[in-house]
Amino acid sequence: MSAYLPLLDKRAVVTGGSRGIGAAIVRKLAEQGAHVAFTYTSSPDAAQALIDEVVAGGGKAFALQADSADVTSLQAAIRTAAEKLGGVDILVNNAGIIAHALIDDFTASDFDRTIAVNVRAPFFAMQEAARHMQAGGRVINVSSNTAVSARVPGSTVYGMSKSAVTAMTRSLAHEFAPRGITVNAIQPGPTRTDMTAGREDYIISMVPAGRMADASEPAALVAYLAGPDAGFINGTGLTIDGAMTA
Ligand code: NAP
Repeated sequence: MSAYLPLLDKRAVVTGGSRGIGAAIVRKLAEQGAHVAFTYTSSPDAAQALIDEVVAGGGKAFALQADSADVTSLQAAIRTAAEKLGGVDILVNNAGIIAHALIDDFTASDFDRTIAVNVRAPFFAMQEAARHMQAGGRVINVSSNTAVSARVPGSTVYGMSKSAVTAMTRSLAHEFAPRGITVNAIQPGPTRTDMTAGREDYIISMVPAGRMADASEPAALVAYLAGPDAGFINGTGLTIDGAMTA
């Protein structure tokens, strides 16, 4: 653990923390002193390896298996996390999926699952987490720069889902601000994870910065929004995409 501990003893819940950006968020929050609970669906080994890594570094983390597409199971996981942690100070809605297809080939089941995981889940995760949050609480939703601008055909439903995430962030900030809780979104551009694997060269050609983000970069923005200096940032979507949508 580093000597910089702005999140010391904060109690955090991260959805989809076993891999990619979520795992980087778990690492970063734990590194800054938070006790982190995270969910996953299909990667118990990756989840355990991350817990081992965090604990070896002097941090605290545990994992809960919960499919974000199942509201009952997701809310039960957040309740369990809140009981184990003694409350929730930080909720990061990170779990997300993408299905690429042009409209002709897009199936209703892919449409429904994308909306269930990317949109319905963060809404009901916020509903449950807010029951365990006090003033000073922080909600950070992982949206996407596709909420701001469409660059390629075939990601209509994903972009639509992320626009909904950014929109619900704005609206819920109004609802939670009187309780001293902030609700913000980060809108990452292309980031090196399993989600973007195999498409790197094509993706990089669209980024003025000439590279993709490392997952630690959006994670650092999440940690900042969760921290003590970000208390007046509320209801916004912060884009982090190497000028791709500038
Ligand atoms: P990823 O590498 O595919 O990892 C996804 C993570 O979410 C995994 O930990 C996975 O758990 C979890 N997850 C997926 N479906 C879930 C479900 N139904 N319930 C619970 N957990 C679930 O994706 P990523 O690139 O890190 O993306 C993370 C977030 O950032 C997503 O919301 C994505 O839309 C957003 N984002 C990504 C990029 C990018 O370029 N990578 C850009 C903008 C926004 P398992 O390991 O158990 O499968």
